[in-house]
Amino acid sequence: MPGFELFGKQERNEVNDVLDNGVLMRYGFDAFRNGHWKAKTLEQELKNTLQTKYVQLVSSGTAAVSVALASAGVGAGDEVIMPTFTFVASFEAIMMLGAIPVLVDIDDTLALDPGAVEKAITVKTKAVMVVQMCGSMGRMDALQIICKKYGLLLIEDACQAIGGTFNGKPLGSLGDLGCFSFDFVKTITCGEGGAVITNKEDYYLNADHYSDHGHDHIGHDRGAETHPFWGYNFRISELNAAVGLAQVRRLPEFIEIQKKNYAILRDALSQIPEIIFRTVPDGGEESYAFLNFYLPDLKMANKSIQALKLAGIDGCFHYYNNHWHYIRKWEHLKNLKSLFPISNEVKEGLTYLQNRTFEQSDEFISRNISCLIKLSWTEQEVRDRASKMVEVISHTLKTN
Ligand SMILES: *Cc1c(COP(=O)(O)O)cnc(C)c1O
Repeated sequence: MPGFELFGKQERNEVNDVLDNGVLMRYGFDAFRNGHWKAKTLEQELKNTLQTKYVQLVSSGTAAVSVALASAGVGAGDEVIMPTFTFVASFEAIMMLGAIPVLVDIDDTLALDPGAVEKAITVKTKAVMVVQMCGSMGRMDALQIICKKYGLLLIEDACQAIGGTFNGKPLGSLGDLGCFSFDFVKTITCGEGGAVITNKEDYYLNADHYSDHGHDHIGHDRGAETHPFWGYNFRISELNAAVGLAQVRRLPEFIEIQKKNYAILRDALSQIPEIIFRTVPDGGEESYAFLNFYLPDLKMANKSIQALKLAGIDGCFHYYNNHWHYIRKWEHLKNLKSLFPISNEVKEGLTYLQNRTFEQSDEFISRNISCLIKLSWTEQEVRDRASKMVEVISHTLKTN
């Protein structure tokens, strides 16, 4: 997945354009920038790549999720349904707005289980946030139907799935709003950065203003701009946008490499009858950023991950014991470890986490192994890795 592996001449050239005139900010300073508008140009490129009407770049993927929710009017006391398996950014972004994250089970797609979503809906529910984890997607048809039926927003976090599609449409473009991250380890990187995408003009204008102190961006004098509402500073810098501009143009190349490497690994692992690959919904095509599979049980997953490490195979994750991605280790959320006081409404809204268990999520995450697909591997390296993985996992399964 990481675009930083192929940081090269194109990225340096784009950054040098910015360094030449020193205008590091995306807004204003028109006379000094020699026509370089990296953030604006990257937004244009992303519109084409993601087949969407509007793109607003921001400072991170976490900011993108907060800005997307705020732009659609989600705030104090509203419930946002999100998966147990994601990145901590999902609940952070919800909590920042004073809204309440309602965690529900995932299914064999490693994304939201539509049945669990429907059960969790209350009068306070405002949005459903599907997180397209590890290069693939949830059951988008079912989720879209549920959101329509109950009049809920569908927010799509596609931070880990740029380049994937559902029924031919880019992931991230299927919800009312889509969110992307271009942090250092994502498929394309800005160093730090993110984007909100939507086809709705009012959501876009809200995102544009909110991410820059509420500025309306009308005219050419920042000091004279008015503020229809207040906002914050979630701006991306021109330097970061410049890196992303070079990277987005290479996305088709990156996806092709991922697909090739993924296919070699998957082909090899298919020889092992006990391995079941993660379900990709009909009509879906992964971005091939990760290869995900299930082993028979937790014990086998634990043993296999240890054995892979011992054999020198890096980049394989067992998220069951991971502090970043799965509810099981989020003690700081369960125990409301906030730096500052939070509202009683949010406190009460989160009491369910004290004794709620997520057996269905445990069932999938405990058996799942997720392997990062790198861009820099040579074909020989992928083939060697594939045969080593088959050998190690087969041996582990035999020695029970
Ligand atoms: C990386 C990531 C984010 C947050 O992005 P940052 O740019 O690191 O803030 C949010 N959601 C998911 C699923 C991610 O993988």
